[in-house]
Amino acid sequence: MNGYRGRFAPSPTGPLHFGSLLAAVASYCEARTHGGGWLVRMEDLDVTRSVPGAADEILRTLERLGFAWEGEVMVQSRRSVAYAEALEQLQALGRVYPCACSRKEIADSSLNFDGERVYPGTCRVGLAPGREARALRLRVGDEVIGFEDAVQGPVRHDLARAIGDFVLRRADGLIAYQLAVVTDDAAQGITDVVRGADLLGSTSRQILLQRLLGVATPGYAHVPVALNAAGEKLSKQTLAPAIDAARGAASLVRALRFLGQPAPEALRRSSPGEVWSWAFAHWDLAGVPRQRSMEVPV
Ligand code: GLU
Repeated sequence: MNGYRGRFAPSPTGPLHFGSLLAAVASYCEARTHGGGWLVRMEDLDVTRSVPGAADEILRTLERLGFAWEGEVMVQSRRSVAYAEALEQLQALGRVYPCACSRKEIADSSLNFDGERVYPGTCRVGLAPGREARALRLRVGDEVIGFEDAVQGPVRHDLARAIGDFVLRRADGLIAYQLAVVTDDAAQGITDVVRGADLLGSTSRQILLQRLLGVATPGYAHVPVALNAAGEKLSKQTLAPAIDAARGAASLVRALRFLGQPAPEALRRSSPGEVWSWAFAHWDLAGVPRQRSMEVPV
């Protein structure tokens, strides 16, 4: 085992579906072909979205598909001490401020590349009299963050213009995804993040947080997101069907082919072990289409 450490970080909002399987397969193939380790983290921080039993179901499906992870699964809902420490570290830098704005109050500020509102900085100079703090935000400076994505190519974000000061602790008291993911990737010693391109726009925020927290920035590879025939991202909301572990080889072949790897169709009727043998011998990240999203062929 060398220094490479990859990970798969599903949110347990439902059973594993084809969209999340893509991130699992791509990150696993990258880790295995680099002779590295592969870890799993359950991103169950958002209790409003987590579904009881989904985490176990996802892990059981991964096992039946032949994925083997290193060590214990990290569980975000048990990491509040680490998140509080990271937040304190940012507060000590003077980069955190309380914000009283509701969603409605920022509803007319401009939209960014991901359709998110750019925070106009209303509470930057302090809360208006009588207003109560809801969320905590990170003060973004004139940081322009550039990185080379191993699939999507060069990416550059002017954080102040495209994102604005972003939330670290939500109004409901939960730590925001951006801070949790950075804290966890550092704690798990992740050297390479391979995930869906729907998170490409989050990466510059995560790199800024890594710099401020003094932790290493991993390499990034964002694979295309799977869309259904209506052009919607496969997700629980769009009723993506669960992966049927009893037909695991067929699902793995479908995922590999979507990711630009020409797995022979005949492997669909084999076993997950045989598909993995083919995948580890042939996986090539350069074959992954340089696209943010693609429709899943029926
Ligand atoms: N939990 C996130 C998701 O399921 C993935 C986070 C990440 O890979 O950074 O979309």
